[in-house]
Amino acid sequence: NSTLSSTLFSVRKNDCTDTCYDNDTVTPFLSGSGGVSSISPLYDWSQINDIIHIIPRNKITVKRMIGKGAFGEVYYGLLADVARQQTPLPVAIKMLPSLCSEQSKSEFFVEAVLLSKLRHPNIVKFLGISVDENSLYLLLELMEGGDLKSFVRECRINGEVPSKVSIYDLLNLCIDVAKGCEYLEQNRFIHRDIAARNCLLSEKGPNRVAKIADFGMTKNVFRTNYYRKNGKAMVPVKWMPPEAFHDGVFTTKTDVWGFGIVLWEVFTLGRIPYPGKSNNEVMTFVAKGGRLDKPDQCSQETYSLMFECWMDKPEDRPNFRNITEELIQIQKSSDLSQETIINGKSSRDYNVTE
Ligand code: ADP
Repeated sequence: NSTLSSTLFSVRKNDCTDTCYDNDTVTPFLSGSGGVSSISPLYDWSQINDIIHIIPRNKITVKRMIGKGAFGEVYYGLLADVARQQTPLPVAIKMLPSLCSEQSKSEFFVEAVLLSKLRHPNIVKFLGISVDENSLYLLLELMEGGDLKSFVRECRINGEVPSKVSIYDLLNLCIDVAKGCEYLEQNRFIHRDIAARNCLLSEKGPNRVAKIADFGMTKNVFRTNYYRKNGKAMVPVKWMPPEAFHDGVFTTKTDVWGFGIVLWEVFTLGRIPYPGKSNNEVMTFVAKGGRLDKPDQCSQETYSLMFECWMDKPEDRPNFRNITEELIQIQKSSDLSQETIINGKSSRDYNVTE
């Protein structure tokens, strides 16, 4: 379709268009069911690197909805003829509704263009886009485990039934996300919305791998201008450092702060940061030096790492390389493998009477 194609080209030329959203993207996650029953054959992703970015519509079969995002629905579907394989590839399809603004279309294409440049085991793999007269599809690697926030929330338990994850597992998830961020850091790529809701899991089982997804914010280079103009919560304030919400300054160290919040989200099993505080209250609290409390089941070392991510001066925060190393060290230095989380506490805490 010529209109859509021309949109694509204008977007490629103009990646940094000013944007404004009319909805509150602080809470875009009407999170869908997430998981998909395990039907995905094992694919060697390295073999399907040659996929053309524009995928003919007749190769795609849409099956069922698996999630809802801020701008559209996400479906489970099948992609035929991938790397000469007989079996169609299960994929996630992000759809833009047929009735959408030119602005949304542009943003959708920018996300596709950005994603197509990234290749890392901890970044959700982009397969291509499909364009027809009425709709736009963005095809992504299917992440059957759903989003990280929902996953850790599901790990909460009632009574004394042990949770299915240990502290070791939680650290594994954090290390995955840190490695994805390290790759973005090496490539001078600022995500701007590192949060547990934007990380997806390959599966819910023990071989789960966490990957960074949702590059929707990355393109909004001038988004904070909009925020400052209206004084409205158009940005995920609870995941942002003061220099970002006050001055609109975004660097990799902005993502480091967000990663610290992800650590906190993971170790509280999916609590909303700064419970009971509005975005305005959080901005005042954080600017005055207030920080999140240590989650019950998190070690002092892990909390210290979070705390470093929330240093006031960006240059005092660690980089992702150091963060990954530190997390691996924390995981190695403690024998956490047998530790099960019980009632939101690790078994170590649970067994000790203090
Ligand atoms: P938006 O960018 O519009 O907010 P998201 O990317 O957050 O949309 O997707 C919304 C939901 O759809 C996610 O929380 C998740 O449940 C599901 N989803 C998104 N991408 C995938 C994927 N690649 N594989 C499986 N589920 C996905």
